[in-house]
Amino acid sequence: MAQIQTVGHLINGEIITQTERAQDVFNPATGEPTKQVALASKQTVEQAISAAQAAFPAWRNTPPVKRARVMFRFKELLEQNRDKICRLIGEEHGKISHDAAGELQRGIENIEYACGAPELLKGEHSRNVGPNIDSWSEFQPLGVVAGITPFNFPAMVPMWMYPLAIVCGNTFVLKPSERDPSSTLFIAQLLKEAGLPDGVMNVVNGDKEAVDTLLNDQRIKAVSFVGSTPIAEYIYTSANANGKRCQALGGAKNHAIVMPDADMDNAVNQLLGAAFGSSGERCMALSVAVTVGDEAGDALVAKMTKGMKSLSVGDHTNANNDFGPVITKAHQEKVNGFIGSAAEQGATLVVDGRNPTVEGFENGYFVGATLIDHVTPEMVSYQAEIFGPVLQVVRVKTMQEAMQLINDHEYGNGTCIFTRDGEAARYFSDNIEVGMVGINVPLPVPVAYHSFGGWKRSLFGDLHAYGPDGVRFYTKRKTITQRWPSSGVREGVSFAFPS
Ligand code: NAD
Repeated sequence: MAQIQTVGHLINGEIITQTERAQDVFNPATGEPTKQVALASKQTVEQAISAAQAAFPAWRNTPPVKRARVMFRFKELLEQNRDKICRLIGEEHGKISHDAAGELQRGIENIEYACGAPELLKGEHSRNVGPNIDSWSEFQPLGVVAGITPFNFPAMVPMWMYPLAIVCGNTFVLKPSERDPSSTLFIAQLLKEAGLPDGVMNVVNGDKEAVDTLLNDQRIKAVSFVGSTPIAEYIYTSANANGKRCQALGGAKNHAIVMPDADMDNAVNQLLGAAFGSSGERCMALSVAVTVGDEAGDALVAKMTKGMKSLSVGDHTNANNDFGPVITKAHQEKVNGFIGSAAEQGATLVVDGRNPTVEGFENGYFVGATLIDHVTPEMVSYQAEIFGPVLQVVRVKTMQEAMQLINDHEYGNGTCIFTRDGEAARYFSDNIEVGMVGINVPLPVPVAYHSFGGWKRSLFGDLHAYGPDGVRFYTKRKTITQRWPSSGVREGVSFAFPS
C-alpha cells in the first residue's frame, strides 16, 4: 500500500513533516482519508516563532519597494499555479473548480493591494508645527504576528492577512485549518520561490495546542483570527489578556430583505447562488430571506422552488456541479439536524435536501439545497449559524419589522436588500446594524482596497480585515517631532506646557 502523505509545516523555509501527532485529512466527496496533517507541538510552534523573530530585523529594514517586488512575483506564481491550487482546494474542501478559482482571484486581489506598500506606508508630515519644528508620523511594523484561519477559504482568508502583514515589514506565523491544509501550505511555498527570505513566512499546522502556544508566547505581537464566534471570542479575550493586538472575525447569519417591489426573478437568481454556492459554507452566505408582504413571500418561495430543481450537487472535479459536499461527516449531521429541528418546531420544509443521491459518491458528505418557509425567530435553526445549503424564509409585514429582526440578531456580518426603491435602500443601509451591506448585491464582500468586517458578535476588535484597516492593524504609529535650531541660537528655559 502506498504510504499516505503527511502535510507538514513550513519553518524557516523548510518543510517539516516529522510529528508526534497527526490526524486524517478527508476528501469530503468520497468520505475517504487521503492524507494526514501534522499537528504541531508547543516546541514546533516555538521553533516557527523563533525563525520569524530571527528574520524580523533584516526584513523590517528591507525597503518597502523591495518587499512589494516579492509580492509582484508571488502574484505571477499564483496565476501560473491556478489549476493546481484549485485542485488542492477541491480535494480537501470539496468546492467546485469555478468556486475555488473565484476564491483564489479574490485572494490575489489582496496581494495586488499589498504591492502598493511604498504608497501605503508613506506616513504623514507637517512642516513648521512650531518655529523651526517639523513633525511626522510613520508606520512601523509590529514584529512577529500570527494568523489563525478557518477551513472554508483555505487560500483566500490567509491572504487577507499575511501579504499585507509582510509588506508592512512584519514576519508571520500562520496556523491554517487542519481540515484542508494542502493548498495553504503549497501557496506559502510559492512565497519562497518569489524571493521571500526564509523565516519571514512560516506555517504551522495544528489544533488547540498550536493556537494556545501562539496566544501565550510574548514574542507574538498581534493575532488575526477568522473562524466561528465561540473561538473568535476565546482568541480575542486570551490575546488581549496577554497584551496582544487582536482582530477576531466570527460567524454570521446573513439576512436578505426581499421587498414587494423587488425584481423577483433577479432576487431569486441572486439568492440561489448566495444561499447554496459553496454549500452555504461562506461567512457571507445569505441564509435567511425576509419577505415583506405575503405576495413577495409566495412569489419568492414558488420561484426558488422552481429554480432549485435544476441545481446539481456533486464532486469538485465536475465543473457542471453547482456546489459540493460539506466539510465533514459531523458537519453534515449537524446541518441535517438543523433542518429536522425547523420542521419539528413548526416550519414548512418546502425542499428537503437531506441525504441526496450523488451517483458514485455514496459516502460523501452531501446535503442538497434546502428551502424552509414560515421560519420564526424562536426557532433554533433561525438563531444558529447553520453553515450549510439551507435557505430559511421569514415572512413579515413591513420593512421596519424586517430591519428589526436583523438588528436583533446576535450576528451582524453581511446583509442585502432587494428593491427598486432608492429611498428604502438608503434608509436600510443607513440604519441596519450590520458591517457589510448589499443593495441588490447578495454577497457584498468588500474589494481588497476597502476592508472586511462585521458588527456585533461577528467581529471582536476595532479594525476590520485587509485594505486600509489591515495596514493600520499591522503597523504601529510613531510620531516624531524634530527641531534643528540655527547655529548659535539657544532656547531659554520654560516651565509652561509647549504651545
Ligand atoms: P473554527 O472556529 O472551528 O476554526 C477556525 C480556526 O480555529 C482553525 O484554525 C481551528 O484549528 C482553530 N480552532 C478550532 N477550535 C479551537 C479551539 N478550541 N481553540 C483554539 N483554536 C481552535 O471555524 P471553521 O469551522 O474552520 O470555519 C467556519 C467558521 O468560520 C464559520 O463560523 C464562519 O462563519 C466563520 N468564518 C467567518 C469569516 C468572517 O470573515 N467573519 C470568514 C470565514 C469563515
